[in-house]
Amino acid sequence: MPARPQAPALSPAATRVFQQLVMSGDASRTALAGDTGLTPGAITRAVRPLLEAGLLDESGDRVSSEGALGRPATMVTVRAGAHQVIGVKITADQMFGVVADLRCQVLDEVTVPVPDLRPEAVVDQVAELATRLREGRPEVGGIGLAVSGDVDAATGHVAYSPFLGWRDVPLGEQVARRTGLTTTVENDVRALLTGERWYGVGRGLSSLALVTVGTGIGCALLVNGQVVHGSFGVAGEVGHVLVDPEGPLCHCGNRGCVEAIAGSAAILSRVADAGLRAASVGEVAELARAGQPDAVRVLTDAGRAIGTGIATIANLLGAQHILITGEALGSDYDVMDPHVREAFEERAFGSAAKSGIELRPLRFVDWARGAAACSVEHFVTHFGRS
Ligand SMILES: [Zn+2]
Repeated sequence: MPARPQAPALSPAATRVFQQLVMSGDASRTALAGDTGLTPGAITRAVRPLLEAGLLDESGDRVSSEGALGRPATMVTVRAGAHQVIGVKITADQMFGVVADLRCQVLDEVTVPVPDLRPEAVVDQVAELATRLREGRPEVGGIGLAVSGDVDAATGHVAYSPFLGWRDVPLGEQVARRTGLTTTVENDVRALLTGERWYGVGRGLSSLALVTVGTGIGCALLVNGQVVHGSFGVAGEVGHVLVDPEGPLCHCGNRGCVEAIAGSAAILSRVADAGLRAASVGEVAELARAGQPDAVRVLTDAGRAIGTGIATIANLLGAQHILITGEALGSDYDVMDPHVREAFEERAFGSAAKSGIELRPLRFVDWARGAAACSVEHFVTHFGRS
């Protein structure tokens, strides 16, 4: 593929049009004008540099707009493969990478073990993974990294990642130097939220909360159409909302946090305290389905803790939609679902109970797609700016 010509600076209107098209895939010029509030002339000016850069096509089909006498409307389509990105989710034991196009469709994926967690070793591995995924793909221009913990997306620094044992790691800078790719770094749950905002349930919403249930309880928030980063890199810590002042000790030093009751480690330790043997939340769920009272009690408490935590989010933010997701959700956690909803309905104040609640299993690829979505977002919002 020929190199793209030097990108011209996009106007704010053109950036909006580009964003709209990347989210929807295609649209008629008329629909774009309707969605963005721009005049047809402004749409033409916005689309031109993107057509010239090879990022959009005008399909040539002319479809009639509503009404038999409506003027023909030209369809504008994103050339999804024209810019590709790598998304990588880094965990303490494995690294999961994807190549995705501008519509965040996964074109290839690779998982590798992480034997050495020292930052320099992980950067080497990210660079190797990127080399593998870029092979034969000159369209790859960016890489997005998703890491759990306290991440400063603006600088690409990982301030603190307990699972990785990292403090103050300039990850973005190091990966950019090694790969030569435009690099973004984001907290993993906020990366998932970004994926949902651009390509999933968050499209068109101004507020959304995403809660992840696993070893830890993570949360990311979209408020007024913006992902909340928190003044100090921390926001929406629903895992540490107090549910029971007399409850179990949390690793944060407090008692009775959501995470100390509903995190998978907490669930396993609570059933062990009751004398039950279970190696996974799935096994606890099996025992609960069979009617084992301690397993039922532990999972009921866990579901209610999550429901209370999300009611707190709804009461504070009035989020339009709350997505609760996790690798085990939908199978192992089905026992908890009714308790999540029941506690939410009890605790959500007035109209806050109107928030849509959705429980959905999480595939590991979704994390890497979220990281890729952050890289696409950066490309779209910075296109034409150096
Ligand atoms: Zn806590």
